[in-house]
Amino acid sequence: MHHAHHHHNHYLVVLSVLIAAFASYTALDLVQSVTNSKGKVKSIWLFGSSLAMGIGIWSMHFIGMLAFTIPGLDIYYNVPLLVLSIFVAILASALALHIVASLKPTTKNYLLGSFMMGSAIAGMHYIGIASMRIPATIIWNQFYVILSIIIAFIASFGALLLSFKFRDDMSGRDYIARGIGGIIMGIAISGMHYTGMLAMTISIDKSIVVNSHQLLATEGLATAIILGTLAVLGIALAGSNIERALFRKTLLNTSLEAGIKARDEFLSIASHELKTPLTVIKLNVEASLRHIERGDWNEERFEASLHKTNKSLNRIIRLVNDMLDVARIGAGKLSLNKELTDLEIIIEDVIESMAPEYAAAGIPEIKFHPVKAKGMFDVFRIEQVFINLLSNALKYGQGNPVEVIMKLQNPNNVIVSVKDQGFGISEENQKKIFERFERVNSPNEIAGLGLGLSIVEELVKSHGGNIWVESELGKGSTFCILFPLS
Ligand code: ADP
Repeated sequence: MHHAHHHHNHYLVVLSVLIAAFASYTALDLVQSVTNSKGKVKSIWLFGSSLAMGIGIWSMHFIGMLAFTIPGLDIYYNVPLLVLSIFVAILASALALHIVASLKPTTKNYLLGSFMMGSAIAGMHYIGIASMRIPATIIWNQFYVILSIIIAFIASFGALLLSFKFRDDMSGRDYIARGIGGIIMGIAISGMHYTGMLAMTISIDKSIVVNSHQLLATEGLATAIILGTLAVLGIALAGSNIERALFRKTLLNTSLEAGIKARDEFLSIASHELKTPLTVIKLNVEASLRHIERGDWNEERFEASLHKTNKSLNRIIRLVNDMLDVARIGAGKLSLNKELTDLEIIIEDVIESMAPEYAAAGIPEIKFHPVKAKGMFDVFRIEQVFINLLSNALKYGQGNPVEVIMKLQNPNNVIVSVKDQGFGISEENQKKIFERFERVNSPNEIAGLGLGLSIVEELVKSHGGNIWVESELGKGSTFCILFPLS
């Protein structure tokens, strides 16, 4: 009995590391396709990806084994055990891909995932070794065995960490980062393998008879496995890139469709909203012209017509201003002129200016409960906020009294509530009404573009404040605004 001098074929060693890196790169790439897909397609992707990745990892390992030679000695492999080691590698990959594609990146999932994957990789390696048939006994160095298993766990942990990082990058353009990730993972996987090989001391024992009806390790076998693996990985990589391109296209199409739909809706609402006051103006002008032609034109008629025209013009101006504001907000060009002001005085002025409109709707007066609240405010914009809220309270308040209540939350914050007892807003709709163009089951005869509250919210936020609504269907709504004071 003597210790054998064994060799590693350097070309094959380098190739095995390269294949491990390529397989890891492919895995990082495939994670996205698995994540992007759903249902049955997801299972198919998971299966295909695990197959590709498993074969990639296994092939690194087996080429590493083929690189291992003992001069003057044939090495055979037991085929059933080799096949088992391939299955274990595919299983390890399936576990890892499933965890990354379907679970949340929590510490528990990282640990669980790297434990399962590390065990499977180590299992694959040692089953692979066990499939080796040589006339020799193997003496194991426990230190290296344990080290190799620890490396398998650490490599798996790193692989999961990287994969989670890449799975949400829809652009798929992060080639360099993924490439570096693949190389690190490839080195880790081969590190595990070659540490495991270091653990073995082989003592030739010619008395052991090796059944030669098994797979003989040859360079031809190594070449076949390398080419086969490259083909599998190449197909997988091409598939995932096609999938990503299709997925991006679908994403783009849905967002384009949504954009076109929003534009069409806006055009139809906006033209309707503009048409109503324009029609009023046109009718008034035509009637006036007829009266002039007929000669029964008088000052009373002139004044009435001008009033109606003016009201309609105001409505158009309001609409156009709202649209301009929305455009400015969208372009980030809304600028404020803040100055130290008393908030209660601004609100008082707005309430006073709205009194005629309320009176016309039969609501006696807006009850106001002011407190002293000095802060940095853009007077014009704050007026706009309360004009909007108070005209909504009028529009949707069903003729019931409206109240405005100011309350100091603490010396630095004031809450202003505008309270009506009208239609109210369902909980589901409360979230929507602050969106642009969003109108929720408003009676059709009540005019509006659905822009007001979105502008109000933006203005409040640009004052460092916050707005929310408390409401119950049929009972009324209270819009609350919190403003910081100075
Ligand atoms: P508009 O009033 O032009 O439709 P807003 O953005 O001001 O647009 O309001 C959006 C929607 O929120 C309204 O269409 C209406 O359905 C709902 N809403 C706003 N204020 C109230 C309120 N005080 N009571 C009930 N519903 C309201």
